[in-house]
Amino acid sequence: MARKIERIVWHTAAHGRDGQAFDTTAAQIDQWHRERGWSEIGYNVVIRFDGTIEQGRDPRKIPAGVAGINETTYHICFSGHGDIVPLTPQQLESGIQHTIEMLQKYKLTDKFLSEPDGLIVMGHREVNELVKRGFAPTPTTKTCPGRLVDMNLARLLIRQRLTVTPTPAYAYDSQSARELLQGLQQVYSAAARLKLPEEAMRSLNQFRKQPEVDDAIGRWRQEQGD
Ligand SMILES: [Zn+2]
Repeated sequence: MARKIERIVWHTAAHGRDGQAFDTTAAQIDQWHRERGWSEIGYNVVIRFDGTIEQGRDPRKIPAGVAGINETTYHICFSGHGDIVPLTPQQLESGIQHTIEMLQKYKLTDKFLSEPDGLIVMGHREVNELVKRGFAPTPTTKTCPGRLVDMNLARLLIRQRLTVTPTPAYAYDSQSARELLQGLQQVYSAAARLKLPEEAMRSLNQFRKQPEVDDAIGRWRQEQGD
């Protein structure tokens, strides 16, 4: 009988030394895991620095990723070392894309969207939260997928990608675009004086990066010969 997958888990290969991370291959991890006496690589896929996805253990088999919850989980491992360097932009993009495909394949999208704190997409270290809630038996001391991998941000990006709706053409005019830019500059400078937390600045940056906002400001600047 097919196993029922309930969560997608992110890992780091934790492969690096002297401040440098290595572009680990699935074949290397497969070898390490066999040396531990496992049948084969424990993860379902490995995502390389350039975003390439290498296949690991067939997801129909039970993986070896997080003790106690392997039967109900799918495991993505990122090459490198998440305590040493963050994911490359290509890894993050590929990881988000693959996670979305797996959420869809295993019919977890609705649950992911309706339970923001449900850890349907989680980092290995977050198993400790599942233990607290009584959903997993075994805690971990690992930082996996690494201190430099922000799972809240990953979930936010996945959520945005899943809820994006086609945007209507917006009504550009120079004066409003100028006010938008000036307003933003005021908000940024006030935020800096108030020393607002990173989280608040992140939402502001998200707004600034919206295609219409970016376009309006870009067009206005162009008009000014800026
Ligand atoms: Zn891990």
